[in-house]
Amino acid sequence: MIYLDNNATTQPAAEVVTAVHDALTQYWANPSSVHRAGQLARRQLELARSALASFLGCKEREIIFTSGATESNNLALSLGTSRSTSGGIITTTTEHAAIREPVEQLEREGRQIFRLPIGPSGLVNPDDLKSTLDQHADQVALVSIHYANNETGVIQPIPALAQIAHDHNVLFHSDATQAVGKIPVNLADLPVDALSFSAHKFHGPKGAGALFLRHPHRLQPQIRGGPQERQRRGGTENLPGILGLAVAARLAQQWLQSDGPAKLAALRDHFEQTLLTQLPGATVNAGSSPRLCNTSSIAFRGLEAEAVLIALSERGVYASAGAACSSGSLEPSPVLLAMGIEEPLAHGSLRFSLSRDTTPDEINQAINHIVQVITKLRQTLPI
Ligand code: PMP
Repeated sequence: MIYLDNNATTQPAAEVVTAVHDALTQYWANPSSVHRAGQLARRQLELARSALASFLGCKEREIIFTSGATESNNLALSLGTSRSTSGGIITTTTEHAAIREPVEQLEREGRQIFRLPIGPSGLVNPDDLKSTLDQHADQVALVSIHYANNETGVIQPIPALAQIAHDHNVLFHSDATQAVGKIPVNLADLPVDALSFSAHKFHGPKGAGALFLRHPHRLQPQIRGGPQERQRRGGTENLPGILGLAVAARLAQQWLQSDGPAKLAALRDHFEQTLLTQLPGATVNAGSSPRLCNTSSIAFRGLEAEAVLIALSERGVYASAGAACSSGSLEPSPVLLAMGIEEPLAHGSLRFSLSRDTTPDEINQAINHIVQVITKLRQTLPI
């Protein structure tokens, strides 16, 4: 198997599996219990919180453990609603469904939504945010913009965008699910108020993530039913997931401080350049924008991405046609369409996402398979 779908999920690291196993066998007591076993579990929970806080450059009390980025995003969207504004939200047209859909629901409930346009570069223009806020700051409670795009890997200018929101006295949240663990995210220097992420995107377990919420901001809990997470998220803590998340963060930090990211970027560039040379007409979506070092969104005009994916899967090469959650449909990716990419290109776009475990040998094998599959499909399928 050559697994190039790491933006959908990553394989848990061996150390993560051990941490999850230890939690299930040694620290299975309820962290809220007063007895010694419960207190042992609580100590592990708080050690995990401080490990994560040091990874992100924030305070322990600013971390709310959740079931993952979908929950963190839903929670974050309640931010600012108690302020004396109409609770409007500024977001973009290329958010993941985990922001897009709750925002649509809030819109149906009467909240005003401003969606910043995104062109073929995949980037938000900070001037668009500034002019929207210049005109509507009194109606806006929150700006929510993803850090890095799950399909194209484009990295938004978050420090500049967050600063503009603050200059207008508006809160700023970022869905950083694709950024955390892949690029340095240091909350000590980043003027964001809230940030969502999920462990399974950086070799941690599924069902575990967090919302960073800068002190002393408050939000409306979505899940009530206990005093856990300082009354912000009820329910017995998922200690196996949380301990796995903390270990995944430590491993990601080591990788980020090594030459790993530069090597991965070189491997991804080799992958793209070879494909573009061997398959005339192929293009990289948002190819000249700042991008995650693991992500390639490549358009093969005139082909159906699904047909390519199935043929590759039969050869043991696993990629995707966009967000895993929207695959299975023959609709082209809404993210690529929102960027103004023409429909025949969006229809023929595939996402290849590498990980720190991807080897040069796997990439060379993948290139051969992709070239063979596309060449064959181009011969057999009419455009
Ligand atoms: N936001 C982004 C940008 C994502 O890529 C994903 C996962 N595909 C999510 C949110 C949702 O994460 P989870 O499924 O772990 O809740």
